[in-house]
Amino acid sequence: MADQVFTFDVPTEIDKTVLGGKGCSLMQMSNIGLDVPPFFVIPCQTCVHYMENQSWPADYEAKIWAALKKIEDATGRKFGDSAKPLLLSVRSGARVSMPGMMDTVLNLGLNDESVEGLAKDSGNERFAWDAYRRFIQMYGDVVLGVPHKNFEHILEGLKKKYSAAQDTDLSAEHLKECVAEYRAMVKKTINEEFPKDPKDQLIRAINAVFDSWTNERAVYYRNMHSIDHRWGTAVNVQSMVFGNLGQTSGTGVGFTRDPATGEKMIYGEFLPNAQGEDVVAGIRTPIKISDMESVGGVWPGVYKQLCDNYDKLEAFYKDMVDLEFTVQDGKLYMLQARVGKRTAAAMVRIAAEMVKEGMITEKEALLRQEPNKIGELLHKTFDPKAVRNVVATGLPASPGAGVGRVEFTAADAEARFNAGEPAILVRAETSPEDIVGMTMSQGILTARGGCSSHAAVVARGMGKCCVAGCSAVEVDEEAEQMKINGKVFKRGDWLSLDGSTGEVIEGQLATIAPVFSENFNLILQWADKYRQLDIRTNADTPADAKQAVAFGAQGIGLTRTEHMFFEHDRIYSMREMIVSETAEQRKAALAKLLPFQRDDFIGMFKALEGRPANIRLLDPPLHEFVSQEMDFAPLIKATGKSEEELRAFVDSLAEANPMLGFRGCRLGMVYPEISRMQARAIMEAAAEVQATGLEVHPEIMIPVLNHVNEMEAMRKLVADECEKVLAEKNIKVDYHIGTMIELPRACITADKIAEHAEYFSFGTNDLTQTTTGISRDDYNKFMPVYLDKSVYPFDFFQRIDTEGVGELMKMAVQKGRTTRPGMKIGICGEQTGQESVFFCQQIGLTYISCSPFRVPGARVSAAQAALLYPREQ
Ligand code: PEP
Ligand code: MG
Repeated sequence: MADQVFTFDVPTEIDKTVLGGKGCSLMQMSNIGLDVPPFFVIPCQTCVHYMENQSWPADYEAKIWAALKKIEDATGRKFGDSAKPLLLSVRSGARVSMPGMMDTVLNLGLNDESVEGLAKDSGNERFAWDAYRRFIQMYGDVVLGVPHKNFEHILEGLKKKYSAAQDTDLSAEHLKECVAEYRAMVKKTINEEFPKDPKDQLIRAINAVFDSWTNERAVYYRNMHSIDHRWGTAVNVQSMVFGNLGQTSGTGVGFTRDPATGEKMIYGEFLPNAQGEDVVAGIRTPIKISDMESVGGVWPGVYKQLCDNYDKLEAFYKDMVDLEFTVQDGKLYMLQARVGKRTAAAMVRIAAEMVKEGMITEKEALLRQEPNKIGELLHKTFDPKAVRNVVATGLPASPGAGVGRVEFTAADAEARFNAGEPAILVRAETSPEDIVGMTMSQGILTARGGCSSHAAVVARGMGKCCVAGCSAVEVDEEAEQMKINGKVFKRGDWLSLDGSTGEVIEGQLATIAPVFSENFNLILQWADKYRQLDIRTNADTPADAKQAVAFGAQGIGLTRTEHMFFEHDRIYSMREMIVSETAEQRKAALAKLLPFQRDDFIGMFKALEGRPANIRLLDPPLHEFVSQEMDFAPLIKATGKSEEELRAFVDSLAEANPMLGFRGCRLGMVYPEISRMQARAIMEAAAEVQATGLEVHPEIMIPVLNHVNEMEAMRKLVADECEKVLAEKNIKVDYHIGTMIELPRACITADKIAEHAEYFSFGTNDLTQTTTGISRDDYNKFMPVYLDKSVYPFDFFQRIDTEGVGELMKMAVQKGRTTRPGMKIGICGEQTGQESVFFCQQIGLTYISCSPFRVPGARVSAAQAALLYPREQ
């Protein structure tokens, strides 16, 4: 592919991996009969070739000139001509969108001759010289590396000299002077004439776009979005059309549905007499496309055509389309169309409504969901009861509630975040350089720009609250303050932003938990219809369990009982148990803990309303419950020992590798009374709740299991205590005893372990730690470097390492089920993102257990997994 050039006149179905997103959309729009200015596409593979060899493929230049000739023929214009010059845009376009991260050059082909041609041809000398000055500025910045501010400085000087309030107040003569000054400055800065030969201009612009693939912000963006650095960008070379030829010209951007809410409407903005970049840069505040009808002139006709194009594009893409267009002398040209980025709320609504409209199927709707974004729907909005002191209203560019302290630069927002405080980033307008600060802010407020401005697009992509185009905001970056309708806000003042209404609110407004929309419920219902994996939750408190059940959890997959020992006065009894010298002393201390544990479990069983609860016996090493800094007085009182004795005992608990030490089932093996107390508490609670008429299904899980003998002994111990309780109460309870699988040896001997374990649950946190030999607590010292250098493809503690840890999991599933066919096997480690869920589906797990707020996302991931990797049930 690297040696090819794709031209507008030869329809092709070749996809984004070759043509890039933009090039592909030009081809598709051209294929479905929309008016697109003639173009050619240099594929991504050519960029890769260029990056590897620092040169183009053999004979490639000749192919470029042949493609250019086709554009000349189709437009009746000639490159560099002094009568009817062809001007080109040269744009990047990777296979996934990287908004504003790479470079673009417009109006290419202008020089001292062709500018005269453009003036004559357009009948507008001012326009021609303005295009020329814009070209030198852009080309100088992007291709020649001349600082942007050098150009700004000259332009501002001329505006002052001729008392021009705006750029548009400068005449053709002024702009000629500007061009002359620009060129002189370029020569002085880079010691080279501004290139006059259009062909030379084009070759260098193409190389500059190739080079922009590896610029710093593009690399940062790719790292943030896990985009492969090896893909390269396509280059789109296209005949220019002008939106700034006067009042019958203009430019706009739109979406076929509202990208913030998902509502079907003619959504978008346009600026009469403007170039495309003006809309995105937010320099003037645009007019809504839906208001075009009432503007008069050519605009109602253009509006009708646009509505038609909206329908055609949605019919083709079967999704919400993000589009760009330009109107030149009343004629509409489409410049770009692609499936649009959207908020989580819009993602859900668009998919659900497209199913209702008969445009897509339920399965397609599910496969379009991004499970990681679903969390956004579960997060806070402002408390409707909180009093809002609204100081201004801007455009509701990206929904959500943002509360933080005002910062005026991306760097300051980043610093505040690093200091552990929430920031609201306030800018006149954002630019791609602000990306890091935007990531680290709670919300973004801009004074200029519409709903398609950089701030709006980027914030929506991040699922971050944004209020854009709030013209009441006057930012004074130097004085580190802003005025909003006369009121001064300084750096560090609290501000709240409502991205759904566009309100800017003084102070720190209270927030509340979210409500599920009808469309969201539909998506989740469809997810439940298709998924084959059950979804449980990791919950240690009745409140967490309740929340998870509300989010659709089908039970608890892990209760870490150790968390229950830290509350209130329980820790004192726990410590008393730890420093006991005899089993009798230990039993006495445990007897004090028993009622607390029982009450906790009663709360859990009630919250679950009949769903199963998988409760794990005590896991962490005992020294985690004591320290030299703790208050020794209660312990001295309870044990009668001296402080020195107790301190010495605490010291004696220290271990060199506590994660590999006296923890998990080893505690129960050495101190069986601990496990007995926990088993008793679980069964007494189960019996009590069952007596109220609610179903209970306790599952008791043994942690850090290594050897079948441990399983056999622990099972015997736990079952014995359970049976004792049931005999005392004269009642039957459906209970099961299983184990965590979190050590490699347990995977390898899973067939033996399954003889005594009724179910398995993969503890992939410890299994990753022990398989890879990487400490889960200390790995951040080297992991960032490893990820940066791609030594590891991703962080194994966030996503299952399928080729290493995953192989052990597969072995355990296969061996476990050889002994116990159809055995229930789940996962309760942290790796429950989309890719990990897909893997769990493929290796035949029964359920996923994740934290409550991940439950809805996991339901959707599981449905996608079932659709992509179906298995016989
Ligand atoms: C695990 O190891 O994956 C697990 C769930 O247990 P913990 O994180 O409590 O060690
Ligand atoms: Mg573990």
